[in-house]
Amino acid sequence: MRAALTTGPGQMGLYDLPAPEAGPGQVRVSVGVVGLCGGDIHIYRGQHPYATYPLVQGHEFCGTVLSFGPGYTGALRPGELVAIEPLLPCGTCFACRRRHPNCCSELKVMGAHVDGALAEEVVVPVSCCYPVGDLPAELAALVEPVSIGLQAVVRSGAAAGDQVLVLGAGPIGQAVTICAADRGAEVMVVDKLANRLELASHLGASRVVDVSHESVEGAVKSWTSGDGPAVVVEATGVPALIRQAADVVAPSGTVVVVGISMEDVALSVLDFTRKELNILGSRNNAGLFAEAVETVRRSPKRVAQLITHRFPFEEAPRAMELLRDHPEKAEKVLVTLGERAEAH
Ligand SMILES: [Zn+2]
Ligand SMILES: [Zn+2]
Repeated sequence: MRAALTTGPGQMGLYDLPAPEAGPGQVRVSVGVVGLCGGDIHIYRGQHPYATYPLVQGHEFCGTVLSFGPGYTGALRPGELVAIEPLLPCGTCFACRRRHPNCCSELKVMGAHVDGALAEEVVVPVSCCYPVGDLPAELAALVEPVSIGLQAVVRSGAAAGDQVLVLGAGPIGQAVTICAADRGAEVMVVDKLANRLELASHLGASRVVDVSHESVEGAVKSWTSGDGPAVVVEATGVPALIRQAADVVAPSGTVVVVGISMEDVALSVLDFTRKELNILGSRNNAGLFAEAVETVRRSPKRVAQLITHRFPFEEAPRAMELLRDHPEKAEKVLVTLGERAEAH
């Protein structure tokens, strides 16, 4: 089978590899569509602490079930389209025992720590497969990034009618917007790129703020009648914006940090007690993948608008270069391998 192998920083090519075989508890899947994200670019650039080359990248994907390992008696059927949760937690560490496999201390992610989806076929645990019914393959590939947004929103406790401020309208901020709006929250999105804000307004944001023209503090003040929002989701990882999130959130409110950075951030100690602040991190998803499938199924038109670029499998290296060189132009970049109707 053909696979796109990342062989070194900035180097990806198509190679012939032996097709994988499913062992007990595993399923062999014909990959349909793979989404790329900022995390993939980290690996592609050689900046990921655990990734080693050569590696088949790709962790946002769907595929068609081909066959099962010995002894399978479950409900999945060959030919079924499934979204695949790319997380391989150890199952025994402290976080896993507490049902937080999303932050397992030994977590392996397909496409980062082990080979992922940029290949014609993959073998994955049956437990990672979520049937998507009649959802188109492109949308099934977006379940994983939506699950990232869903985890942040569930962590925040945002309920219908709550005001949720989202800092950053990249793919994660957009997924947060979709999930918060899906729960009936009132969403304001802040960014400096007009094209991203335009998209956010189609995904459920009732108010968008372009920081190039407007102060966030002023906009938040008038939007919340001076109270501050109940929830702020920080989706950039920029330290100054994490500080801003703590500054503008309502007393008793919740800040969820889902953006990633290697930097430190200074916060006002007094705010923690004065506001009785809740500051939470959010990573991957914990038991929300099936709900992420349902979120996508409820809002297929919104989720489809995340797609800005499509490439055939042969052009996977070009897709990676586009996202590396022009992240401001891209939300979701998809690589399509094609759905094969029948098992073979
Ligand atoms: Zn991703
Ligand atoms: Zn674990």
